[in-house]
Amino acid sequence: MEFGWGPEAVQLRAEVRALFDELVTDEMHERVRSTGTHDDPVLRRAIAERGWLISHWPTEEGGRGWDGLSAAPLFDEAGRCGAPFEGYLNTMLVAELLRRVGSDLHRVDVLPRLVRGEALVALGISEPDSGSDAAAARLRADRADDGSWILNGQKMFTTFAEVAEFVLVLARTDHVLPKHRGLTTFLVPTQSPGFSVAPVATLGGERTNVTSYDDVIVADTARVGEVNDGWAMMGLVLSLERGVFPVVPGRCDGLLEQAVEWARTTPGDGGQPRMADPHVAERLAWIAVTNEVGRLLALRTVAAHAEGRVPVVEGSMTKLFTTEAMQDLVETLLDLVGPAGLVTDGASGAVAGGAFERAVRHAPLETITGGTSEIQRDIVATAGLGLPRSR
Ligand SMILES: Cc1cc2nc3c(=O)[nH]c(=O)nc-3n(C[C@H](O)[C@H](O)[C@H](O)COP(=O)(O)OP(=O)(O)OC[C@H]3O[C@@H](n4cnc5c(N)ncnc54)[C@H](O)[C@@H]3O)c2cc1C
Repeated sequence: MEFGWGPEAVQLRAEVRALFDELVTDEMHERVRSTGTHDDPVLRRAIAERGWLISHWPTEEGGRGWDGLSAAPLFDEAGRCGAPFEGYLNTMLVAELLRRVGSDLHRVDVLPRLVRGEALVALGISEPDSGSDAAAARLRADRADDGSWILNGQKMFTTFAEVAEFVLVLARTDHVLPKHRGLTTFLVPTQSPGFSVAPVATLGGERTNVTSYDDVIVADTARVGEVNDGWAMMGLVLSLERGVFPVVPGRCDGLLEQAVEWARTTPGDGGQPRMADPHVAERLAWIAVTNEVGRLLALRTVAAHAEGRVPVVEGSMTKLFTTEAMQDLVETLLDLVGPAGLVTDGASGAVAGGAFERAVRHAPLETITGGTSEIQRDIVATAGLGLPRSR
């Protein structure tokens, strides 16, 4: 069995590193931290220009026809250096949806602009009263006499709405059918009259938003998929969200490298580096092994997606395992480093440029966004193991 990377992946890793070395600067990190928006138009367009996120698409659709795993180094490298392109990743989930089920209009007018990194799409699924139970969405879309739709309601956690050109909105179009069957999906332009965005700050510093829809009118051509088939559309996006663009193992690699550096250069009680303590070395090794398991789960998900399958169970396993592993990692780091691990960047005594402190605040978000760990366990139990549904 060959465990090495193929030639395309090796070449891609070198290209990715070169691009990130050039573009992902301290100024970029600073800008992203101050706004909380993990998007940079220059970086996004540079990645788009190279076609890395669609390298598994056939050449006639603009891809390179590569096998799915060839693009995997992109996610590792992006995670490791903290390249802020989550907005583009979000958008490419919608691109995958439009590619599979979009109308001709969406495929001609919208899809190419998403692929080229010219326009971002935010996901409008969660609401103030329906987070995990997304199918209970109440934002309503009522059909007008001329066939257009009028949207009224609120969405919670619409990340990237402040920079996106569209929001993919899950709306209730039938109030009598069972909740999963009365929903429809729309691609709503954020310039529409009646649409507004209010920021929500998070513990990790990432910005998300509440978005409000006050008599927002969209043409029927904004609809993605059939009327009342919105749950299937969102199911596809959510399944893809959970693992086909896995950046968490790379993020853990970056933290682990900083932890090893800290352990090698920080003297312990007897003046020896902390790494000389077998307890410290063993815990760091355990983190490295766990992260490698997460990466393998992620690769399996990426491969399944590239083969054209929707990796529902693999994606949930990857999301659950890698984000909980990240949470364990930051707890271990705090345990080893002690209170200094909580000192913020710029303050005296900060360790690893404040990276550990930032990770402590960021890691819990990873276990929530994209569906909480409990929801992933539920999917693995029911769809993966065939256990009875709990709800
Ligand atoms: C930073 C951030 C960014 C996000 N970005 C987006 C976005 O761009 N678009 C979007 O639509 N959504 C987004 N979300 C929403 C996210 O994907 C989650 O689905 C949502 O936060 C969960 O809903 P809730 O917060 O209302 O929690 P609740 O659903 O109220 O859950 C509260 C607790 O109950 C548990 N729970 C709920 N139901 C069950 C169950 N059936 N079994 C066991 N336990 C259960 C949950 O695991 C959780 O611990 C984002 C969330 C965050 C924090």
